Amino acid sequence: MDKVRIKLLFLGHPRHVINKNKLSSFSSKFFEVSSLESIENLPKANKNDGYLDVEYSVDEVSNIITKAKNADITFAIMNYPYDDDFYLHRINDNAVCLSIAGIDQLLLNNNISIENFILKNIYEVAVLVNILPSVCSDEAYDIVHDDTRGCLFDMNGDKFDVIYNTEKPQLCNSCKSYINSKSLPDGYISKLEKELKKIKKPLISRVELFIKKYPLFSVGFTLVSSFIINILASLFLEYSKLNIAFTDLIKAMVKCLSGT
Ligand SMILES: [Zn+2]
Repeated sequence: MDKVRIKLLFLGHPRHVINKNKLSSFSSKFFEVSSLESIENLPKANKNDGYLDVEYSVDEVSNIITKAKNADITFAIMNYPYDDDFYLHRINDNAVCLSIAGIDQLLLNNNISIENFILKNIYEVAVLVNILPSVCSDEAYDIVHDDTRGCLFDMNGDKFDVIYNTEKPQLCNSCKSYINSKSLPDGYISKLEKELKKIKKPLISRVELFIKKYPLFSVGFTLVSSFIINILASLFLEYSKLNIAFTDLIKAMVKCLSGT
């Protein structure tokens, strides 16, 4: 299966640092980041409702995004909201744009990285490229569902629901059934499910969360493990002393036998 070549395009100035290296070096059988670009200065938004916040329409974003060279699709990421409050729009056959405005803080408040949120959406787009005639095809509405199932294709009409399907997103039975109705390489779904499990917190964050969730168990575990380490250290010390004494005894015997 050919990987979907993705051009990552950052629009404007993100409020939070995004680990672009993690995104560009992420290993997948489904996509590869073929280039990484950014446009820092965006044209002024046309919205003129008297408020000072910046919002862009899909048409405005489509005029900003340049056609991908050496890539199948441009995956743009911007820190400004859309005027319709959705967060992911298919701009044209070769481009989508993800807005992380507002969602960034929601993710961080729930110890979920923005990079994982971006990766989850890249997977969603990559699968749409694989199963639809075009990423803009209306057939996408046949797979995306309104209810939240912890699935890669949850609509997330309520943005808060992204916390339920960003890390280790699953494929619900109806999505699997839809994907299986398409002509795809053998083992497509099992490989996809395996990779989706890789979208998870780093180990240190998982340990921190475990400690917060089970403080008494963590304290008990620390005490027991300290006790065991102390016993092992004492045993090792005694063993070392015995070993030294035994070596001295052997040396004395050898000396005695040799008559020196
Ligand atoms: Zn689903």
